[in-house]
Amino acid sequence: MTNTKKHVYNFSAGPSKLPDEVLQEISEELTDYKGNGYSIIEISHRSPMFEEVLAQAEHDVRTLMDIPDDYAVLFTHGGASLNFSMAPLNFSVNGKAAYVDTGVWSDKAFAEAGKFTKPVVVASSKETGYDHIPQLDTQAIDREGYDFLHITTNNTIFGTQFRDIPNLQTPLIADASSDIMGRWLDVSRFGMIYAGLQKNLGPAGMGLVIVRKDLMQRAPDSIPKLLNYNTYQEYDSMFNTPNTFAIYAMGKVMKWLIKQGGVRKVEETNRFKSALIYEVLDDSDFYSTKVKTDSRSIMNVVFHLPSQELTTQFLTEATNHNLLFLRGHKIAGGIRASLYNALGIDAAKHLADFMRNFENKAKSS
Ligand code: PMP
Repeated sequence: MTNTKKHVYNFSAGPSKLPDEVLQEISEELTDYKGNGYSIIEISHRSPMFEEVLAQAEHDVRTLMDIPDDYAVLFTHGGASLNFSMAPLNFSVNGKAAYVDTGVWSDKAFAEAGKFTKPVVVASSKETGYDHIPQLDTQAIDREGYDFLHITTNNTIFGTQFRDIPNLQTPLIADASSDIMGRWLDVSRFGMIYAGLQKNLGPAGMGLVIVRKDLMQRAPDSIPKLLNYNTYQEYDSMFNTPNTFAIYAMGKVMKWLIKQGGVRKVEETNRFKSALIYEVLDDSDFYSTKVKTDSRSIMNVVFHLPSQELTTQFLTEATNHNLLFLRGHKIAGGIRASLYNALGIDAAKHLADFMRNFENKAKSS
């Protein structure tokens, strides 16, 4: 990177902005790791040097999320999505699992589970266009003896987020791809948390899995080795060659996050950033959001303008102001501002100002 790099505000939903300091550090040492004359991505994953990178990344994940010792921390292949298959493959002893349907990603997890177990939707907000997090009858779920309850903690496309994590006896499995380490999660409340790295954690392509060790014992030996969480545990996530670059870069992001003051601290900042945008929406009769107030995401703010024409104009003018990648997912339409950890408060302020100006201009023309 040079000083002439264009200054932009990157609101991409994923892969997403990485901290500038992290990219700088990576670019400085990528061709020559610690003065050894080679890159970290040019050496064996079994070399002591890479083993140290991986061990340090795991250590920092444990520190940042205060992970109890009875949980394993694993780097799995196939991003978040392979865990849609792995979770039911590994944990279905009774042959039925409960799913909360909060949109596209939870639906994909549900569909995949149907290949390995009998998934049951126990709550859904589908009828109202996924505009809220539905209430759960946790006692009824516990009575049914499901192998686990699956939730998506933050719904990247619709902009909803579980404010309270369900409290129940049934093991809770959470896809936290778009809010992991962007908000505090009490790991001891979960059977497993999984996430793709590419939003708050690092580059795309791998999954981070935090799983209670006793649950892993459920996995039948018959399942493919690379789809068995025990393999990842037994071989320190290196049964075969992992994406060494992603793990290395993630390690840098973990160090950056520690420097920011940890997860609780960045959560505060994320709340502040999202409040700046929600404030504009609440003050406005021009912008609207379908998301119910108690389900608003602090990571992805999804909103709409009065017409498609104005939406297109908004996106063009935003790009001219270096406010990038704000187009909503095609299923939800409108605008989506993803406010992951690496995006500073200044970005949210600029967007809020831009929104106010755009509204005033549109009304006066
Ligand atoms: N779950 C959620 C909530 C997501 O937002 C995404 C990616 N946008 C995924 C799963 C899929 O992640 P991956 O591409 O790493 O499989």
